[in-house]
Amino acid sequence: MFADVIVDIQHEKLDKIFQYRIPERLKDELYPGLEVIIPFGKGNRQIKGYVTSLSETCNYDLSKVKEITDISRNSVAIEARLIALAAWMKEQYGGTMIQALKTVLPIKQKENAKVKKHLRLLLTEEESQEKLAFYQKKNQKARARLLEALKEAPILDYELVTKKLNVTLPVIRALEEQGVLKIESEQVYRNPVKQAKKSQQEIIYTEEQQHVIQGFRQDYLCGTRRTYLLHGVTGSGKTEVYMEMIRTVVDQGKQAIVLIPEIALTYQTVMRFYRCFGDRVSIMNSRLSAGERYDQMMRAKKGEIDVMIGPRSALFTPFPDLGLIVIDEEHEPTYKSEQVPRYHAREVAIHRAEVEDASVVLGSATPSMEAMYRARLGEYQLYEMKNRSHMQQMATVHTVDMRKELKNGNRSILSEKLQELIEDRLNAKEQIMLFLNRRGYSGFISCRECGHVVKCPHCNVSLSVHKGGKMVCHYCGYEQPKVTECPECGSRYIGEFRAGTQQIEDMVKARFPQARVLRMDMDTTKKKDSHEQILSAFANEEADILVGTQMIVKGHDFPKVTLVGALAADMSLYTDDYRSGERTFQLLTQAAGRAGRGDRPGEVVIQTYDPEHYAIEASAAQDYEAFYEKEIRYRSLMGYPPVENLMAVLAACEDEVLLEKACKYLKEYILRIKGQAQLDVIGPASPGVDKIKDIYRRVIYVKAPEYRTLVVLKDRMEQYIEINSGFQKMRIQFDFNPMNL
Ligand code: ADP
Ligand code: ZN
Ligand code: ZN
Repeated sequence: MFADVIVDIQHEKLDKIFQYRIPERLKDELYPGLEVIIPFGKGNRQIKGYVTSLSETCNYDLSKVKEITDISRNSVAIEARLIALAAWMKEQYGGTMIQALKTVLPIKQKENAKVKKHLRLLLTEEESQEKLAFYQKKNQKARARLLEALKEAPILDYELVTKKLNVTLPVIRALEEQGVLKIESEQVYRNPVKQAKKSQQEIIYTEEQQHVIQGFRQDYLCGTRRTYLLHGVTGSGKTEVYMEMIRTVVDQGKQAIVLIPEIALTYQTVMRFYRCFGDRVSIMNSRLSAGERYDQMMRAKKGEIDVMIGPRSALFTPFPDLGLIVIDEEHEPTYKSEQVPRYHAREVAIHRAEVEDASVVLGSATPSMEAMYRARLGEYQLYEMKNRSHMQQMATVHTVDMRKELKNGNRSILSEKLQELIEDRLNAKEQIMLFLNRRGYSGFISCRECGHVVKCPHCNVSLSVHKGGKMVCHYCGYEQPKVTECPECGSRYIGEFRAGTQQIEDMVKARFPQARVLRMDMDTTKKKDSHEQILSAFANEEADILVGTQMIVKGHDFPKVTLVGALAADMSLYTDDYRSGERTFQLLTQAAGRAGRGDRPGEVVIQTYDPEHYAIEASAAQDYEAFYEKEIRYRSLMGYPPVENLMAVLAACEDEVLLEKACKYLKEYILRIKGQAQLDVIGPASPGVDKIKDIYRRVIYVKAPEYRTLVVLKDRMEQYIEINSGFQKMRIQFDFNPMNL
């Protein structure tokens, strides 16, 4: 017998399967997915690898095939289904098989689960009575005591016996030898949530909710499996719908995975699921220890739970009979992995569901362009919930044109309207959120008088300012000198837009000295748990105003918040990213959804230099359709996803000159082999961050109508890179339909 083994060496060029002979003593123990120790290379270094399959025949010279040394005793095995999933991911997204295997196996080390021992009585009533009389006659008190206890309760906890009954191990052993009892042990897995009590509240579903629930039930019970897109406004009761769908699946003896962005995976959310499913629910998140995570995986595998809630990686939960995968807040960029393989949870979920005969539900108040595009094509079943579930109205939105504020002599970051409303809410003892829509390194140039933003003439994304005064396009590499006056209106008030949350906090404190202000951003959330502390302080009304970045607009429900201010609403419009319109619309809509979740209706102020931009207009009108129509036209015109497909080839190297040269070769190679294939090659250009820790980075974009074309191109490029030693010093990765470059 032989085993195909993938060797665990982080080296792109070694992504091959090696055949090993299985030694006689391991024959019965070995199966695909196990980690093994194998001799490798000339020196027969002992390294690790994964068995991917077994075979009867040897494909190589028999005399050269080496033998597996041993099974890695403390490792976690990968399930066969997940190996297949990993192979699919490698094929779709590039990278090595070992990288893909490690992705589907979020926990590597087996951490010994606690073992619980108990004693089981093996004798019948009569036999016990006889034995007991015997012990008593012989005055063997401890034995008699133990047997009496077992007669009461035929299964006893080991600890209880030794501690409470004061019976020692030799006594227990003696009884075991006489066939009176058996010592049994079982593994006990930790449960990360302590109070898992079911407490069903009766809920009357709205008509919209019922419609979705019934549609899903009908499909599911008829054996129809599909992908659903649930587009429901914030507060429309999507979570309740998910839980009802899960109930349908669980009633059929199947299991469900619920993906939630880590940031929204709050205690409140988890408790809602616990109230519904009791201790048949578990969570997976980064706050659990490796041991706890391992235990959750084992509980899932053993059928101890029905529902797993967690961020992206929970997608790989080894449930025996998966019925449903829910992806909440489907549009969130965190669903895209930033490590190779750079997979998108939505795509992998749909593939896994297809293979395992499960359904997928994607939910969002602001569905991603991808999801809505697929739904419109009829690939997903679309359901809409347009109304909030009980009473609450949607917030009233005011758009303020900041150019006019400047003309009227207000140079503050806060518009007159916003100042007025803040004053009002402070007096009414209600809460306020001020959200600065800023993203990473957005160093775009804009005119404060007319709002004009300087963009790349070829790509329609904003140019970024670089050191040395150049303005650069991060897509195609186009450059021009920095402008000193506005090309639209001639104003000299043009420059880099910069304002931080710290600045806003100071300003707000100066303007409203009576207000208690909290700030939440990268700086104030560095410490573990500080994120939650700030949010819970605000929830407990220890502050009147919460100032923060986009972090504050997600997840939590603050019933006392009746005013949300979005400062520099258009800031995220001009990041150098074709998704900036989408991100802006999503953020503003989510922010508006924060206002007026309690009894009092909410108001929202959107401050912008570009009130006519369709993303701003649509979010002010809370009109998803209007946004989608405009945005899809732009994507189609420019050939961006989801209409076409984009593959980023990311190259990184310490040597900038070598990197430039390699990118040139790569681009030439693509152009040479493209043949009749319809594709566009753009770049090489600098990605948003063009140097990290002295490693230079470049990116080549390839656009094609068909995804498949890009996958084939990726395969050929991987081969080309493998056989050319010139690329050895370089790290080259692929990113399909990138989101976070
Ligand atoms: P979403 O996930 O769409 O934002 P949720 O499911 O969180 O909405 O619902 C918002 C709030 O409304 C929650 O407190 C939830 O318990 C409540 N809710 C949802 N559906 C109903 C209903 N049919 N009747 C009463 N309350 C509901
Ligand atoms: Zn101008
Ligand atoms: Zn460009």
